[in-house]
Amino acid sequence: MSHTSKENYSFFKGVSQNFDKAAKFTPFSSGILEQIKACNSILQVKFPVKIGDKIEVIEAYRVQHSHHKLPCKGGIRFSIEVNQDEVMALAALMTYKCAIVNVPFGGGKGGIKIDSRKYTEFELEKITRRYTSELVKKNFIGPGIDVPAPDYGTGAREMSWILDTYSSLNPNDINAQACVTGKPISQGGVRGRTEATGLGVYFGVREACSFADDMEKLGLSTGIAGKRVIVQGLGNVGYHAAKFFQDGGALIVGLIEYEGAIYNTEGFDVDAVLAHRKATGSILNYEGAQNFKNGAEGLEQPCDILIPAALESVIHEGNADRIQAKIIGEAANGPLTPKADEILNKKGVLIIPDMYLNAGGVTVSYFEWLKNLSHVRYGRLEKRFSENMYAELVNIIESLTSKKVSELERKIILRGPDEIDLIYSGLEDTMIGSYQEIREVYKNTAGVEDMRTAAFICAINKVGAAYEQLGIFP
Ligand code: NAD
Repeated sequence: MSHTSKENYSFFKGVSQNFDKAAKFTPFSSGILEQIKACNSILQVKFPVKIGDKIEVIEAYRVQHSHHKLPCKGGIRFSIEVNQDEVMALAALMTYKCAIVNVPFGGGKGGIKIDSRKYTEFELEKITRRYTSELVKKNFIGPGIDVPAPDYGTGAREMSWILDTYSSLNPNDINAQACVTGKPISQGGVRGRTEATGLGVYFGVREACSFADDMEKLGLSTGIAGKRVIVQGLGNVGYHAAKFFQDGGALIVGLIEYEGAIYNTEGFDVDAVLAHRKATGSILNYEGAQNFKNGAEGLEQPCDILIPAALESVIHEGNADRIQAKIIGEAANGPLTPKADEILNKKGVLIIPDMYLNAGGVTVSYFEWLKNLSHVRYGRLEKRFSENMYAELVNIIESLTSKKVSELERKIILRGPDEIDLIYSGLEDTMIGSYQEIREVYKNTAGVEDMRTAAFICAINKVGAAYEQLGIFP
């Protein structure tokens, strides 16, 4: 990653600047706005873990940005770049993100400052469990308090360690499973969570591409089919987003990872590139690809849609001018610095902001939390009932028309919803509805010049209203 113009940049200040830009379009007093902006609770811990025959002191954080709704919600990141400013910024983004997609949580975020590739699985488990016990001790985790999820460097495996540690420290908590989301299905996870953020990114960009007037301004046609896409980061979010774009008919012309970038105007098969990476240890030298040893150059290649899905600040003052994409879908959190945002907005690029676009993860996490609290799988109660109802309807139509539907049609019509169907449709509805809400504000508020400001306005209006209704303690 190029760090040009990145040094001394405060991510939290960047988020606050964007907040301020939007706040003037909202009706709230400066006191309420200050309260929305501030991080409510910040935990920094340092704890010892035995690694080999040495003791290592691990630095970790959990930030609860807003208590206007509980629990707080947000991922846990394992990265050597973790610091308090970053975790605060990410927690704040979670508050706004939850508000935008109408998920009734406050924002939170956690981070452990480690390079997870340097540890064995057993060592990572020790670190994760010790971190969780610190959260329990400080009352920073619980189904009604604060509910972590996966983020950069973590996944279902880490979430199951967190759940197991929390449950063994809270043996009487019948809702213990709801203390963390993004769990394996066998531990109370929900189907569709793994791919949720990537799928949400796809649904969001697809919705943006469905408006003829917006596309015309960019010189593009509507729809995803045939659009040239570059994706940075082939982790959980980037991989799934790339797959859904490919399945939706887009051409994946560029892929970027740690080791560099590859580009081909004909488009790549994402799974074939991953198989090549597994076999050779690198995406570089994939058949027919143009190689860039400096991955950041991959961001600057010709494309219609650029999806940064790795880490923050990858597009900054130093490279924003060279970005050729007409649409940037912020799958990662904070991939553009405010300066880059300004430069690209001036160029007329449509920037679909992170706090909306990557909200698929938290949306499905919310569905998982509800599943855990209700102790029942989605679809269990209604699937058979729906199938019986549809069968009745088809029978009535057949007898009234004296015509028979084919066996295949009958099979399609009669299928009741499984958990995955309900999760996908809930996610699709959320991403479409929220995009339209943000776009309405963007189109109808004089002086609002970009989608990020519009998204912030939507979020501030909802969080501000909640604070006003809560009342402030005298
Ligand atoms: P991940 O760890 O699964 O994947 C990140 C990928 O980025 C890895 O493959 C890594 O090798 C790659 N990468 C790292 N540095 C890179 C670089 N300089 N150039 C190219 N690739 C690089 O993480 P993730 O969960 O996919 O998260 C990615 C981003 O999406 C983060 O900003 C995270 O905060 C955000 N996000 C994640 C979720 C989620 O549900 N996982 C939800 C919302 C937002």
